[in-house]
This record gives sequence, structure tokens and C-alpha cells, in this order.
Amino acid sequence: MEALPKNPANFAALTPLTFLHRAATVYSTRTSIIYNHNHFTWEQTHTRCRCLATALRSLLHISKNDVVSVLAPNIPAMYEMHFAVPMAGAILNTINTRLDAPTIALILHHSEAKLLFVDYQLVPLASNALRHLREAKAEPLPIIIVIEEPADATTHKNAAGGLEYEELITAGDLTAELPVITDEWDAISLNYTSGTTSAPKGVVYSHRGTYLSTLSLLLQWGMGTEPVYLWSLPMFHCNGWTFTWGIAARGGTNVCIRSTSAEDMYKAITNHGVTHMCCAPVVFNILFDSREAEDHKKKTNFAVEVLTGGAPPPASLLEKVNKMGFHVTHAYGMTEATGAALLCEWRAEWNQLPAEQRARLKARQGISILSLTEVDVKETSRLTMESVPRDGKAVGEIVLRGSSVMKGYFKNEKATAEAFRDGWFLTGDVGVVHQDGYVEIKDRIKDIIISGGENICSMEVEKVLYSYYKVLEAAVVAMPHARWGETPCAFVVVKGEVEKVTEDEILAYCGSNMPRFMVPRKVVFLEELPKNSTGKIEKNKLREMAREFKAGMVK
Ligand code: ADP
Repeated sequence: MEALPKNPANFAALTPLTFLHRAATVYSTRTSIIYNHNHFTWEQTHTRCRCLATALRSLLHISKNDVVSVLAPNIPAMYEMHFAVPMAGAILNTINTRLDAPTIALILHHSEAKLLFVDYQLVPLASNALRHLREAKAEPLPIIIVIEEPADATTHKNAAGGLEYEELITAGDLTAELPVITDEWDAISLNYTSGTTSAPKGVVYSHRGTYLSTLSLLLQWGMGTEPVYLWSLPMFHCNGWTFTWGIAARGGTNVCIRSTSAEDMYKAITNHGVTHMCCAPVVFNILFDSREAEDHKKKTNFAVEVLTGGAPPPASLLEKVNKMGFHVTHAYGMTEATGAALLCEWRAEWNQLPAEQRARLKARQGISILSLTEVDVKETSRLTMESVPRDGKAVGEIVLRGSSVMKGYFKNEKATAEAFRDGWFLTGDVGVVHQDGYVEIKDRIKDIIISGGENICSMEVEKVLYSYYKVLEAAVVAMPHARWGETPCAFVVVKGEVEKVTEDEILAYCGSNMPRFMVPRKVVFLEELPKNSTGKIEKNKLREMAREFKAGMVK
């Protein structure tokens, strides 16, 4: 057959901005956002975003490829900016609100942000970051725009005396033209990595990559129309794993909350009939170890779909989650892969298996989401890039390719070049592929413990520790050893009273559940594990502590 030429209707660029335009038409009167007593419809959200976009261009002279940063919790303004900023042709940079002022200053300087939108509660943090920039003579400084609580905005001016978010929306002009996205590879957002293993790097997402990732994740999670989505996952984390754009695509309702206390989450779930939410595994501990959890069990008779990821969810925890009426799906990803890269898609034949086995299967990281062409586990240490056998045993590095992989690191050609090899993105994670094609992560390359020439995956030891009924949290790192080079050292947070648990008891449990060389040489009890701004356990800090234990500097 003769190839047909493209017609003009085929030339629209792929961009998640179209989800909002469509929502305003087809879901116009549906509730788009609920926040405290404020309710918006999709038509209103669309209008507000357009107004903000026009005001950014006409009043603040924002144009193509300018970076606009925002420091805010999960509030309506944060959601709106995911559309309004790229509608103005600019690039959205959401900043983790748990970072310290020097790191925020570093991000503002590196991204060359023109504007910084700041939630009114975070003004002191932002001012502190600007002070750092001023001291370092890093000019020009971004213009600050304060976001007041919606109800307050009309009644008082912001304390900093400058521009205010709602005033900008009011000043917007709905009749003004906005740029059309013609190149789908244009940048839409800039997200800095959480820097667990190196300094934060700016990851650039394209309109095309986010469009495809959003749709893939919606489809594979099986999110139907009209979801009521609770914003428990910060929007500043990989643009809320793309659900910022995704909820518009589904005509859903965004339930925005400022804090993720058990009380606030359960209140939102009950009051608004939440159907979906995302969270890191640590949030489950907040959800379950609370008084509200008991009340919730009694009151709620519908299941909430939860997507969890960002860190390994222990199988024992997943088992518990299901019993609570939350139906959990497990995803794996990273900033560089626009959030989720793999998803543990459930197979009907697994339904018949015993609960423990089901949880073990669910704890695997899964298969690639549709916008990735491929995931593989390859031999990268010897640079051969050979795929490891699909036997669930042979380990290699997890590598990805496809549309959801980032464009590259902003202003960092060296790191970009190092992140890719032979057309694959190197994740820095070690894993195996099972016979059914499901990938399971074993460790981060930098966390592997090499003991007497044997590789010990810290996550394997942690898995066993988590299965012990008195353990709430566990992390295993390398401790120097004169004979073996390194040996595992376990840091444990126990459930209940620490006096009732002994090191010997934990070691005995490990001894009967893992090979001898993997058994930790030392167990350290902590009240809590050090965690970074995204809730990830800071193993570098634990390694330092382990070194000090070894040297006898700390008992
Ligand atoms: P950083 O690399 O700076 O920590 P990210 O937040 O992008 O920033 O973290 C990505 C890493 O988190 C992955 O490379 C992986 O090690 C870990 N991770 C993410 N999801 C999972 C998961 N479901 N199971 C195990 N580890 C995970």
C-alpha cells in the first residue's frame, strides 16, 4: 500500500496540557480540587491556569524556557502551576520543602530560576535561601511571589509586601494568546534528584515524556474515570509521579492536604470518599500505627487503591496493608524515569496463592510501564552489557530505555554521558529477572556489602529483619572488618519497648533465615533511622556510624 502523508490534524504535539483543556470541556462542572472549604470545578481550574499563565507572561515577562520554581506543600496553587507554568511556555521546577536553605539556594542558582512561588508558611525558609544567594553574590535573584491561603488572599496582602498568587490570577487576561507547544521534546519540568548517592542533579522532563508516562501509569494502575485522589505523595516528588497531570486526564478530584498526619489522611479518606492515593512505604507506618487506624477500620467499608514506591516495601508490610482495606500496587522508579519505571502488574493466577506468597510476589518491582520500550538487567560492571539469564538468581544492573527516560541532566553533560551506555539508562540499582520477566531489585550498587569476596545485598538481609515480628524498620550497611574487608551491620527500630528485644535474639533469627556469611556482625538499636528529605533512609550516615562502632569510638 502506498504510504499516506500526514494530514494537518496529525501534527499536534504530545503534551499533558491537553488533559486540562479537555477536562474543561468534557468534565467542566465536575469537582477538580477540594482543599479545606474550597471547591473548584475543572472549568474554574482551567480558567485560573490560563489567567496565571497570561499574567506570568505580561506582568512578569516570563517566556519560553524560563524556569519558574515553587516551594509549596500539596495545595491548589501547586497543582495549578503544573499547567499554568508550561502554558506560559516556561519550565516548572518544584522544590522539595524539606530541604535546607543552602540546598534550596543551590537549586535556585543552578536552575537560574526567574521566579520563586512560596507558600506563606515557607517564607522564612525561602528568605533564608535568598540570603545564602545574596552572600554568595549569586545574582540575579528570583522574584518572590507569596501564595496565601485561598480564603485569606482577598482580605490581606502578603506579609512580604510583594506580589501575591491570587492577585496575579486576578490580573490575568483570558483573552490573551498563549504560546502553542509545537515541539513535544520541549522541556516541561525540572526536578532535582534527592541526592541519596550524590549531589542533587537537575533532571529535565519533556512534554512528550510526561504525556506518555502519565497515560501509561494511569492505564497500568487501572485508574478509571472520576477517581477521588488524595494528595498524600508530595507533588514536588517527580511531579507527584505524574498524577498532577493524570487526574486531569481522568476528570478526577484532587483532594489537597497540607500535612500527611494519620488524622488528616483518614479524615480526607472518610469525608471525601477517596478512591486512590500514592505513598512511599514509610507512610504505611504512619497510617497503621495510629489510633485513627483503629477508628478507620471500624468506619470504612470501601477499599482505597494505593500505589507505593520510592523505596522497597517489605513483603510483611504489604501483607498487613491489604488486611487494613487498602489495595496496594507496587511501583519502582526514580527521578530520571519520570517517576515510575516498573509496576508490579498483578496476575489473576496469583490470587489462589497463600497470603505470604502473594505479598512476596507483590514486593517484586515488576515489569516496565508502557512508555518504556524495555527494561533489562545487564552485566555493566565488566562493560559487556550482556543480559543476565532470567533465572531470578543472576544479578546485574537494572537498565531502561524508552520515552519516559529523562532528556538529561540540566547543565551537566558529564553526568548525562555517564548515566547512559549503549542507548540504555543505567539506574545504579542491582537486580535479577525472574522467569516470568518480573524484575526484582536487590540493592543499590553503592550499598552492596563485599565480605570476603562475596557480594551481600543489603536489601536481602533487611527483608529477613523486616519479617521478624518485633522489627518496625531496618537498614543494613557495610562495617569495616580486618579479615573480611566488610561485614553487615544492622540498624533496627523495634516495635514497642526496646528493652524487650536483644541483639542475640535478632542474630539468632537471622542465623536461621539466611546463609551464615550474610548474618550481621552487629545490631544497633535506634529510636529512628536517619531519613532524607524524601523519606529515604540515609545509609551514608549509617555507614559512618558503623565505622565508628568498629573503631570503638561509639559503644
Ligand atoms: P535518589 O536517586 O537521589 O535517591 P530518587 O528519589 O529518584 O532519587 O530515587 C530512586 C531510587 O529509589 C531508585 O534508584 C531505587 O534505588 C529506589 N527505589 C525506588 N522505588 C523503589 C522500589 N519500589 N523498591 C526498591 N527501591 C526503590
